[in-house]
Amino acid sequence: MDEEHFDGKKLIVSDKEWIRRLTPKQYKVMREQGTEPSFQNEFYDFKDHGIFVCAGCGLPLFSSDTKYDSGTGWPSFWEPLFPENVTYREDKGFFSSRTEVICSRCGCHLGHIFNDGPLPTRKRFCMNSLSMNFHKKEESSSL
Ligand SMILES: [Zn+2]
Repeated sequence: MDEEHFDGKKLIVSDKEWIRRLTPKQYKVMREQGTEPSFQNEFYDFKDHGIFVCAGCGLPLFSSDTKYDSGTGWPSFWEPLFPENVTYREDKGFFSSRTEVICSRCGCHLGHIFNDGPLPTRKRFCMNSLSMNFHKKEESSSL
């Protein structure tokens, strides 16, 4: 099986396997750095308590505790759950450069980070709902 290979840190998945595993919309966002429409995505106004994980590999990314309403129409967070689970990459556009946020394990595109977030970090992690799955917090479990 070469479709997927884990070297202890990074998950290497073949393009063919990503196409099989993701919906066409997810593939566009997660593998081709696309952006889903604002206000027309699953999590922008979502208020349940739990953990958002990478839709590509299940790595925990954000807690609902750090989610806030940024008014942008995309799910926004001021801090990742574990700093090492997200990786930053310069995304050079035609008019400006932004910082892209990708999953540290499978390399899928998640969204972008901006410096106009709320306290205490002043960061805004602007995520795509398509890049994440949600795991509801169990009443008795403490994470
Ligand atoms: Zn991932």
